[in-house]
Amino acid sequence: MSMKKSIAIGVLAVQGDVLEHVNMMNEVLKKNGYKPNTIWVKKPEEIELLDGLIIPGGESTVMSRLVSEMRFGDKLINKIKEKVKNGLAIFGTCAGTIMLSKTSSDNVVKEFSQTLLELMDIEVVRNKYGRQQESFEKELLIDVLGKKPFPGVFIRAPIITSVKKNVEVLCRNSEEIFAAKQDKLLAVTFHPELTHDFRFHEYFLKLIQS
Ligand code: GLN
Repeated sequence: MSMKKSIAIGVLAVQGDVLEHVNMMNEVLKKNGYKPNTIWVKKPEEIELLDGLIIPGGESTVMSRLVSEMRFGDKLINKIKEKVKNGLAIFGTCAGTIMLSKTSSDNVVKEFSQTLLELMDIEVVRNKYGRQQESFEKELLIDVLGKKPFPGVFIRAPIITSVKKNVEVLCRNSEEIFAAKQDKLLAVTFHPELTHDFRFHEYFLKLIQS
């Protein structure tokens, strides 16, 4: 099969499950006729080359701390924000969604403050279901992915509690929002990269192409 024009995708490699995203996104790129061009990124200049960026799950407080301790941490944050204005698509999963949010509070530790990208008009509560032992799996109905339920893997998951009008809710129940999109920014509170279901990464590729 002849390869299409290259698409470059980065996974923010500060902390969290980077490799799983790299592997899944590369499979999706190949399946769609692209070169498997998903790379680990942590330097501001690497952001410049990207069409899409994935911010993985992990521990957002650690991510925030490591970014603020990095020599080029501020530059990295500013570069991501600047690139979003120029059309960079971002996919945040779990801790990545917290990083994307404008405001976040914590259900377990209560008071805390952390560096966020503040790119999406969503409010997030961290550790909504408690600690590690409250992790669970749940089938989710997500219209944009078709009729087949998506396997939601929730690990010390946050919840999106409210969104502004410019945010499209992709999946919710009565009180909780599990997935949302704002322009080319996509946020989910669970871990698609830990399943064998590629549909969210495919949906992200479509966002990049749009
Ligand atoms: N509880 C974590 C945080 O607050 C998120 C957990 C995850 O990404 N699986 O960052």
